[in-house]
Amino acid sequence: MSQDPPNGGAPTEASQSSALPALPPGASWYDGADDGRCRVIKADGTRCRATRTLRTGACPGHSGIGGVAANPAASSQLGHAEKRRRSLARAQLGITARRAATPLQAARLAAQLRADDYARALVDAPLDDPDLSTLQRQRAAIDAVNVLFPPSTVQLQVEVPEDAAGVEGLSWAEMQSLAAQLLGSQE
Ligand SMILES: [Zn+2]
Repeated sequence: MSQDPPNGGAPTEASQSSALPALPPGASWYDGADDGRCRVIKADGTRCRATRTLRTGACPGHSGIGGVAANPAASSQLGHAEKRRRSLARAQLGITARRAATPLQAARLAAQLRADDYARALVDAPLDDPDLSTLQRQRAAIDAVNVLFPPSTVQLQVEVPEDAAGVEGLSWAEMQSLAAQLLGSQE
């Protein structure tokens, strides 16, 4: 048959565009001609300057407000995605859901979930902060290095062999460890 209906139950363009996002408190809705910008007039009377999406006429940020009411299915998917993200972060840290309730583990989980922000705060922010003195910046850089590259506490101590036969008897791991010791002792 050539007259098959579109796959069952999918919402049409018209039914989607009728769902306007809810407005933040005190905001109003610009109903002039479309100028490509978000239609939300904020509580202070200025228009939101962000680019509107075609679907809602508001920017993505303002489209998200009231999104739960406008599209429960999508909101529930977002909720599931957030749950997956958290359980993945817990798995990476080896924290069970029960232990994640303790303050320290919850803080570690938060740091893992905001890994990019955390890295920026630890490394980029102090290095780029114009208000820090050279010495303060150096202090922060050293602190960051100590956090990022903690000195290894488990070290294989290898004696330098006295002859060629002794060198041949070294395992690969022992040779690497010896090389690291010798390089380290030159500093
Ligand atoms: Zn907006």
